[in-house]
Amino acid sequence: MSECLFCRIIAGTLPTEFVYEDEHVVAFRDINPAAPVHVLVVPRAHIETVADLGGDTAGIMSRLTAAANRIARDAGIHNGGYRLIVNCGRDGGQTVFHLHMHLLGGRQMPELAA
Ligand code: AMP
Ligand code: ZN
Repeated sequence: MSECLFCRIIAGTLPTEFVYEDEHVVAFRDINPAAPVHVLVVPRAHIETVADLGGDTAGIMSRLTAAANRIARDAGIHNGGYRLIVNCGRDGGQTVFHLHMHLLGGRQMPELAA
């Protein structure tokens, strides 16, 4: 079995409700939500960080963004706006080393800290 938490969720060995899925992408609610809407948008392929993208995987960010925009529309937060975040590596605050995009919304998001 994969050691990677998100690969286990994608494989169904860690049962998790998907709010969106397609051939390349799955999305599920963050277990520790930081906003009323907090969804993780995740490529099915195991890619550790955004810094690893390129070549065959260069298009993955646009797939993640398109899925996030659609989820935001479905959640009814597209008019008010929302925040998309990708943490990269230890100093970027990444804790799960399977690339993912955070979709945060449903309230005014604070200014980014310096
Ligand atoms: P990051 O810090 O950018 O790597 O984000 C990892 C996110 O995964 C955190 O916001 C966690 O709350 C979230 N998380 C960890 N385990 C799970 C899980 N089993 N299901 C959903 N979200 C999770
Ligand atoms: Zn993985």
